[in-house]
Amino acid sequence: MNPAVSDSANALRELARAHLWHPYTPASAVDEGLPVIVAGEGPWLVDADGRRWLDAIASWWACALGHGHPAVVEAIRRQAAELDHCILGGLIHPRAAELAARLACRMPEPRVHVHFASDGASAVEAAVKIALQFHVNRGVTERTELLALENAYHGDTLAAVGLGFLEGFHAPFRPVVRPAVRLPVPYGGRDLDRCVAAARDAFASRRGRVAAVVVEPLCQGAAGMRMYPAGYLAALSDLARHEGALLIADEIATGFGRTGRWFAFEHADVTPDIVCLGKALSGGTLPISAAVVRDEVYATFAAPPPDRTFHHGHTFAGNPIAAAAALASLDVYEAEDLPGRAARMGVAMKERLAALHGAGGVADVRCLGLIGAVEFDGPARVRAVRDRLWARRILARPLGPVVYLMPPLNIAPDLLDHACSALVEAVRAAG
Ligand SMILES: *Cc1c(COP(=O)(O)O)cnc(C)c1O
Repeated sequence: MNPAVSDSANALRELARAHLWHPYTPASAVDEGLPVIVAGEGPWLVDADGRRWLDAIASWWACALGHGHPAVVEAIRRQAAELDHCILGGLIHPRAAELAARLACRMPEPRVHVHFASDGASAVEAAVKIALQFHVNRGVTERTELLALENAYHGDTLAAVGLGFLEGFHAPFRPVVRPAVRLPVPYGGRDLDRCVAAARDAFASRRGRVAAVVVEPLCQGAAGMRMYPAGYLAALSDLARHEGALLIADEIATGFGRTGRWFAFEHADVTPDIVCLGKALSGGTLPISAAVVRDEVYATFAAPPPDRTFHHGHTFAGNPIAAAAALASLDVYEAEDLPGRAARMGVAMKERLAALHGAGGVADVRCLGLIGAVEFDGPARVRAVRDRLWARRILARPLGPVVYLMPPLNIAPDLLDHACSALVEAVRAAG
């Protein structure tokens, strides 16, 4: 280890300790000394001491193409020189129009309008407000209730917190958020039919008052990669349609091939009214997100007077450089059929992790596409497994009792194999 380099890493740690507020990071972890990451190359993050870490969580599920993908870097470089920023309020720029059209083609029903935002949470905020105003536009003012799934996570702004309200995390904000009505989810031994019946009751007891049901399709990421059958999503879609409520699919974590299809809702063969996109939309390079809205909904905002303009927007919505990064990422997802590849590689991952069923301390092993999660029966084991993975420079970041792998979709097969065996060995050693 080069002492000069470590000195500079320590200097950065000092600056960070003094002034940098890390998201979702307890102060005690900062005091232990965090890794300093100075570069990214494909599936690797490189620290200040030159060590390479396998980015096994694709930097919070965003970097689906790994780091520094040449086609995306080149698109960013070119766009920055051509047009760095331009608002979408009252103006058009080429990359936003092209990206909206490209996303439309990926939807089951391409007659959609795309409302761009910057982070996932801001796309969710837009989607919720669009759903609420959609009903008002039609002269219906009673539809103000939102339904969401138990253990949902849709982001950290206040409306999104309302959808994913957790007493333990959000108690300080309770006075200013309105928690959504929560629907049970069929996992952990819960029966699908019973959950559907409970959802039907939740709609029926609020007949005419539900604006939308908001879901993470098939896999609830932040809840700990909790997976539920496609049949539940199909049933919720039917219920929403029957009850006159909108279906909002939050594909921010699952979109762009992660589950082995372009979008996770495709497993259930449903057509959501609004689809939220983010994270991998730009290959994880720049913040850009979107609410993709069916034209039946959009039309109520476009109808002539009175003014039904959607008075909502963010300064950097649809930023040209971020949109160029997204277009280049879509090219790669398509050219390399990364959704298909995720499905195939996911089979291999599932076979490797199956070795952990019944291992000491393991409560569950579950996989969907290139998401592989191991749930433990207690926190001590989670920490031990994480520490063993970190010792081998595999960057895992557990979610509660769950350690998971969610690598870049273009990870090489031998590297995926390496990550799986490291996880299997870490669990065995910890047990
Ligand atoms: C990460 C995530 C969000 C929030 O996205 P940010 O870009 O962090 O605001 C919303 N919904 C889901 C399902 C997510 O995984």
